[in-house]
Amino acid sequence: MPPRHRSAALGMNAGLSARLSAANLPDEIPRDRLASQGLGAEMAYALIHDHLMLDGNARLNLATFVGTWMEPQARRLMEECADKNIIDKDEYPETAELEERCLRILADLWNAPNPEDALGTSTTGSSEGCMLGGLVLKRRWRDRRRAAGLGSERPNLVMGSNTQVCWHKFCTYFDVEAREVPITPERLQLGAEQAVAACDENTIGVVGILGSTFDGSYEPIEAIHQALDDLQARSGLDIPMHIDAASGGFVAPFNSPGLAWDFRLPRVLSINASGHKYGGVLPGVGWVLWRDGAALPEELRFNVNYLGGEMPTIGMNFSRPGAQVVGQYFNFLQLGHEGYARRMATLEAIACHLADGLAALPALRLASHPLGQLPVFAVELDPSASHWDLFQLSDKLRERGWLVPAYTLPADCQHITVLRFVVRAGFSRDMADQLLEDIERAVEWFESLPSPMPKLPEVTQGFHH
Ligand SMILES: *Cc1c(COP(=O)(O)O)cnc(C)c1O
Repeated sequence: MPPRHRSAALGMNAGLSARLSAANLPDEIPRDRLASQGLGAEMAYALIHDHLMLDGNARLNLATFVGTWMEPQARRLMEECADKNIIDKDEYPETAELEERCLRILADLWNAPNPEDALGTSTTGSSEGCMLGGLVLKRRWRDRRRAAGLGSERPNLVMGSNTQVCWHKFCTYFDVEAREVPITPERLQLGAEQAVAACDENTIGVVGILGSTFDGSYEPIEAIHQALDDLQARSGLDIPMHIDAASGGFVAPFNSPGLAWDFRLPRVLSINASGHKYGGVLPGVGWVLWRDGAALPEELRFNVNYLGGEMPTIGMNFSRPGAQVVGQYFNFLQLGHEGYARRMATLEAIACHLADGLAALPALRLASHPLGQLPVFAVELDPSASHWDLFQLSDKLRERGWLVPAYTLPADCQHITVLRFVVRAGFSRDMADQLLEDIERAVEWFESLPSPMPKLPEVTQGFHH
């Protein structure tokens, strides 16, 4: 909500507390059923506004990848569009036009062979983009198997055990075996050799992650691609890739333009990204694109005549807010290539500064470094700091308002606990220094404790996205 509204709300709130105590408040506000009498808009607003004060401060939240800041002009524009349903392309053809422009901009940014021919859609987030990418892989594999007179009962999808939960959902919801390659302490991502070793004739595709949710590192997508080329030369198996670039889709094109992870690689059939992560939009918008029209089987496109538009309707949802797509287009316009590049370079520099500052503390060591990766990294506890753990450090930082999650890594690294830092737009170098000081103080405090502290149970705690 724009600042002017927030101050108006505070003013209203102050005037309201008098009236609330003036006996207009019902004795009981039922939590789990509809109250027989409504409270009225003002009182409902004040109650909910106050209730939400206990939420964490979004700007101090280093747990999430999702946007917590946008320019006031973007917020104004999005509020102006709050009543627009993106599916009503007939009624809001200009919102639909902005979505198409966004898609072409992304197709160009991700080096589609012919950006005009790339096909895609906005989504509620990357999760929906991943579901659609996975479904197309499954359908193409099935069609090919059927055409060859082969069975199509047991599809599998190859990925690292470090994939985001949306891939587990995809496999469970759509009956695909998740072939998860375990990570190792030396390789916290999918390796090329291991990926190919997991492939067989029932593999619908390989998922490459740019970058990993757990530590911000990029998976070796080009090496996986090369290994799949070799596999095809050896065995004839032609296995496509989907790139889950939820975060990296808006980072790598600017920070690592030479890195080939996208449609430059012919095996990359589809790519998803979250506009609401490094795309810089408030939640929820995502994108999924296919390299060309031929990549998307006809039967997965739905053309409904009551919507008008030329664009096929692809996607899980029907009605969806249009404001986020407008917010995305706003960012493309206001930042341009140079603006995104500057923003991403700044975030990378701040993340490196924070990582190097933490690495200098004897009690901590880096599990990953943000240089040339996402502006995200994870730290581990040095074995010498044996009488406290990162769950306790995470709790201690909460006293100062910082939200920095501690969690254990996935299979086969469940014995490793890390603390993860996600640096996003709105997190300044100054805040990084404040956080560094708070962590130094907290570490000193733990180190000064005389006797061993009881360890907390090793549970995944406060892990996000
Ligand atoms: C965040 C994330 C997702 C899920 O994205 P949403 O936009 O939150 O649905 C999927 N994959 C990766 C790698 C992510 O980081």
